[in-house]
Amino acid sequence: MSDCLFCRIIAGEIPSAKVYEDQWVYAFRDIQPQAPVHILVVPRVHMDSLENVDNENAVYAEKCLQAAAVIARQEGLSGGWRLVSNCGPDAGQTVRHLHFHILGGRKLSDTMA
Ligand code: AMP
Ligand code: ZN
Repeated sequence: MSDCLFCRIIAGEIPSAKVYEDQWVYAFRDIQPQAPVHILVVPRVHMDSLENVDNENAVYAEKCLQAAAVIARQEGLSGGWRLVSNCGPDAGQTVRHLHFHILGGRKLSDTMA
């Protein structure tokens, strides 16, 4: 999707600070980090959000989860980390391409909402 920001980042049309990639997943540093480590893990195929995961594309979501654990280790987050996927307007999703936020590098908030 040429009008999707994250599809354009994956395609290399918009620069990003890549931390990991494989055939299913691309991951890069969030431009407005909310923790010392704030990385976005995105599937290489476009889907708007978790609401659009189906039997055909579920492997991409699964690979994002596997990649998140690899990246957390790579980033040295041995004390713990959080994975967040905002889904829809009430959750504050601003980019309509499924993504998972890896947050870590400090003691995170006790509340999630
Ligand atoms: P969400 O609000 O869950 O949709 O998350 C979207 C995230 O994308 C936000 O944390 C933004 O800071 C981040 N973001 C927006 N544009 C870029 C960009 N060009 N490079 C890296 N991160 C971005
Ligand atoms: Zn997209």
